[in-house]
Amino acid sequence: MKKTGINGLLAIVLGLTACVSSADRDFSQAEAVISGEAMVDYIKVLASDEFRGRAPFTEGEELTINYLKGQFIELGLEPVFDGSYFQEVPLMEVEVKPADELRMQTPGGLLELQNLSEFVAFSRKVQPRTKIEDAPVVFAGYGIVAPEYGWNDYEGLDARGKIVVVLVNDPGLATGDPGLFRGNAMSYYGRWTYKYEEAARQGALGLLIVHNTRGAGYPWSVVVNGGVSPKLYLQDENGNAEFADLEGWLTTGAAEKLFAGAGMDFHELVARASQVGFRAVELNTRMWFEMESRFTYDVSRNVAGVFPGTDLGDEVIIFSAHWDHFGIGPIIDGDSIYRGAVDNGTSIAWMLEIARAFGKLEQKPRRSIMILAPTAEEQGLLGAHWYVSHPAFPLEKTVANFNNDLMLPLGRMRDVMITGFGQSTLDDLVEEAAARQDRYVVADPTPETGMYYRADHFAFAKAGVPALFARGNVEHREHGRDWMAQKEKDWLANNYHKPADKYDAETWNMEGIVEDARLAFYMSWKLARSEEWPQWKEGSEFKAVRERYMP
Ligand SMILES: [Zn+2]
Repeated sequence: MKKTGINGLLAIVLGLTACVSSADRDFSQAEAVISGEAMVDYIKVLASDEFRGRAPFTEGEELTINYLKGQFIELGLEPVFDGSYFQEVPLMEVEVKPADELRMQTPGGLLELQNLSEFVAFSRKVQPRTKIEDAPVVFAGYGIVAPEYGWNDYEGLDARGKIVVVLVNDPGLATGDPGLFRGNAMSYYGRWTYKYEEAARQGALGLLIVHNTRGAGYPWSVVVNGGVSPKLYLQDENGNAEFADLEGWLTTGAAEKLFAGAGMDFHELVARASQVGFRAVELNTRMWFEMESRFTYDVSRNVAGVFPGTDLGDEVIIFSAHWDHFGIGPIIDGDSIYRGAVDNGTSIAWMLEIARAFGKLEQKPRRSIMILAPTAEEQGLLGAHWYVSHPAFPLEKTVANFNNDLMLPLGRMRDVMITGFGQSTLDDLVEEAAARQDRYVVADPTPETGMYYRADHFAFAKAGVPALFARGNVEHREHGRDWMAQKEKDWLANNYHKPADKYDAETWNMEGIVEDARLAFYMSWKLARSEEWPQWKEGSEFKAVRERYMP
């Protein structure tokens, strides 16, 4: 008995060692197939002139989704949606033709603001004409109602029938005061999407957000590009009746003129708006404006495939990277194709290569792995929002989301930057995976841009699913931090949402994205072999949502 006991124990120990090392070997062999050349091959197709910038509803959509489907089949991914790789996403495209001028009668005289150079105007309401006549204009600080921060910019203000002018971002960013909101990090209240939602709740006739580059996280040209292209919304039975008639932006210059006309100093009011107890200010100004709208109803598609798991196959880990971009747009430097090679070709390539690695594993993971390419991210994460409200696996069976967006092809990084650092225990998994690659974890150094709320992982987070947005982005292994910061700054200024976002064989270096793909492959492989459920950390605004439906 004793003898066989020892032998048995030995056999178990040896068996375990063999099992662990064979799993590790299996992982290493799979990890090794992740290739930068393969990534470039995908990107050359996705960002080709032929794909015309991958705008939803265009020939570019057909080409893109069928290309992805072909790749998914080749990688061995199975269809997710009743035998199909496509999930229909019913959308409404709204095209608005604003008047050239927006007129404001201030106490100091008539102000005629010019379309695109001073304002951008839009309406998501399903009505052919929007006419604003003689509407009072009021300044409501940041346009935020946040009970948990004891903040209410609409306190004492009846916004019905009024045009409300507000500031971009939130008071924490403006003052840098860590005691206000999230300090230098943007809260959800800083997002323009939130401001429109709040204005709608307040019954405002219109909302105009005053732009500044630091607060918005992007220059005015990005607002203009967004303003001239048709916008997409998920189809809504009420015709968006609950929203304001006018949703738009003013330049800081236009706001200065408006406030000067009202006999006030804009910058003095900006300072006051960041103080506790600020109250809305009437500008004694009336506004006139007109625009026409056209609506097109159409269906776009999310694309997804799955590697079914074994004994925990009903649980899923979801990788995501949006497939869409802006299509054909305004000509810049003689070019009108918005190819989106970095936004989001590099992340699709990252995701496809992770899928290739999973396909190579001989020991299939316990949990399922889904590869999801949502549509209409550029128009407000629409495909991802649709997915989480119509998920292929129930959300309580959805373990985590790993999303990426705007991965810069600049080479290997010393860091792994987590956008939304501190939100969930997925951070701990990153620590472990980063150490393996001799890298360190760093929080996004520019949380004021609200990036955690600006890409598809946010749709998962808002629905309670722990979601991670992580990649090397801060310290280049060869060139260091300053070089990297300058490169990113240049890219945002010259390429972001412009035709210049295209593949360049001369300058691109895929090694960092390969390393990031291996990092994410490691984390998801670990998670897919375990029974562990990542959790939102204490203080996360998404914790309560998750706990509401988890068993
Ligand atoms: Zn993107």
